[in-house]
Amino acid sequence: MHTLRCQGCGAAIAADSPAPYRCPNAGDGADHVVARALDPTGLEFPRAGDANPFVRYGALSLAHALARAKGLSDGDFDALVRDLDGEVARVWGRGFVETPCASNAALATALGVGAAWVKDETGNVSGSHKARHLMGLAILGAVHARVGIGAAGPGARLAIASCGNAALAAAVVAAAWKRPLDVFIPTDANPRVVERLGALGASIHVCTRTPGRAGDPCYHAFRDAVAGGALPFCC
Ligand SMILES: [Zn+2]
Repeated sequence: MHTLRCQGCGAAIAADSPAPYRCPNAGDGADHVVARALDPTGLEFPRAGDANPFVRYGALSLAHALARAKGLSDGDFDALVRDLDGEVARVWGRGFVETPCASNAALATALGVGAAWVKDETGNVSGSHKARHLMGLAILGAVHARVGIGAAGPGARLAIASCGNAALAAAVVAAAWKRPLDVFIPTDANPRVVERLGALGASIHVCTRTPGRAGDPCYHAFRDAVAGGALPFCC
């Protein structure tokens, strides 16, 4: 099955470890980035035709591999994805579908290149590509909750540091997944985005800079929340 491997040191991380996944060797100053390692054995070509990309490409995901390893069927996984997507549609007005990708002659001319292709994600959930990343995390978290791994159950708190479309995407998907979300934003966040975050039920924390502490105060607050048990819900 698909597994997890650290791209920094090569360490393997069990897919049924509780979230958040972390390399056992992290903390030595190097970048220990944990990524899915695809197992091509018996992998079917993604099912063409299904409008929901998380169903169509589900077999490529760690969430699907974990679900199958824990005794769920393909149908169970698809139903889990469709239920969650239905909740996204309830929150946002529409769920995840393939977004348009087309050549744009005017853009190519303006750029002075032979051809330019545009992937238009403005019609995607929350208006950007960010929600796709959060939906992948929510599906994985929902599988964890379903098979009893770690703390992704109904009591889980999610956290993200952002001032824009990533926070909005996280708020939509967290509302769909019915998990409380803490959003750590800077003092100059766009008021329209902040208003929408509040309307979606996110808990908003405005982070001011601490004199003498270098770095993004939102990111510090996010790390503190994760250290306190929140699940990182970011992209
Ligand atoms: Zn590592």
